[in-house]
Amino acid sequence: MRASKSFRLHIGIFGRRNAGKSSILNAITSQEVSIVSEIAGTTTDPVEKPMELLPLGPVLFIDTAGIDDSGALGEKRIQKTMQVFDRTELGLIIAKADEWGDFEETILKELKDRDIPVIVVFNKCDLAPSINCLSKSFSGEKIPVVETSALTGFGIQELRQAILKYAPDDFINRPSIVSDLVGPGEMAVLVVPIDKEAPKGRLILPQVNTIRDLLDADSFCVVVKERELREVFTRFTKPPKLVVTDSQAFLKVAADTPHEIPLTSFSILFARYQGDLSEMVKGAMAIDKLKSGDKVLIAEACSHHPIGEDIGTVKIPRWLTQYVGGKLDFTFHRGHDFPENLSEFKLIIHCGACMWNRREMLSRLMRARMAGVPLTNYGLTIAYSLGIFERALQPFPAALEVYQTLP
Ligand code: SF4
Repeated sequence: MRASKSFRLHIGIFGRRNAGKSSILNAITSQEVSIVSEIAGTTTDPVEKPMELLPLGPVLFIDTAGIDDSGALGEKRIQKTMQVFDRTELGLIIAKADEWGDFEETILKELKDRDIPVIVVFNKCDLAPSINCLSKSFSGEKIPVVETSALTGFGIQELRQAILKYAPDDFINRPSIVSDLVGPGEMAVLVVPIDKEAPKGRLILPQVNTIRDLLDADSFCVVVKERELREVFTRFTKPPKLVVTDSQAFLKVAADTPHEIPLTSFSILFARYQGDLSEMVKGAMAIDKLKSGDKVLIAEACSHHPIGEDIGTVKIPRWLTQYVGGKLDFTFHRGHDFPENLSEFKLIIHCGACMWNRREMLSRLMRARMAGVPLTNYGLTIAYSLGIFERALQPFPAALEVYQTLP
């Protein structure tokens, strides 16, 4: 089974049309993955190529369209490319050997403003042998530079090495999902409802990733549906270290789990793993300020087809409406698109973003912060509106403190 996108280092490839971005990607991956043409601007949507880059592990190259496009199609390409910045963890700027200018400086600035490590790649060096690109400096800053020719293969190995060297530390030392809460030899109970909203024949990604994280840490788990949970507790000679439930079963699981056993949800684990739990706790507390008529944005990272009582479009709106005691004005968004004008919303409620890398979720948090709009996630919203917020935060002392100390 392939590593999910969320585990891959996202490498954005930026540059002018026809600087050779697609050819560089093909040379690194040794495959024909993008449309390569002599006609400038052949690549339209960003093209994603997953691969294993050892010893780093799984990476995802995102080959962007040129953002120096003009015209209606160009506008769309530019918009798509700008979204790529939101999920890029390492940026490659591809330029022709004799073509560094304001355009490349703009990309460099965008990456640097976002604290994204960057490698400058001067491509097509075989066409300008007299230019020494390696001696270039960038506004007096030390930026790693590699010279390549995608056509001849020159410099491609050096570029691979540079990627390994400049991969960001927070990718290599990612926070764990749950293994810091359940140590080696300890047990977690995972509660997984199998109802008509559950996908046929498989578990969903947050559940699978949590199991894998526990196994990696030499911990173990019992996976159970909510109906059998009570029975399972009677079989243990020692209580589990943690119970993790699907947020939709929170109330029943909270009722059936002895109070001394810590309890949280997959979604709350992912608020911490993919985003910033303390900030999202503050976001959930904004639920108390909501009043009838307020606009609430509900955003999901992936574009699954809603089935039955869908969590995002049916259950959360229902629970929130009951909690607020009035009609709220909900807007729903899926995928990488996000409304330009966030300030019209009083609250943003996001899914666990299990399909994304952490950088993209953090970019959304930053945009919400800049617009002055609180952002929280599904699990926190459900726990808050059902009155079990404090219990769901018990395993996370720092986040619990935020809740207990905020006015
Ligand atoms: S909606 Fe969000 S949390 Fe649910 S599967 Fe999609 S990305 Fe993951």
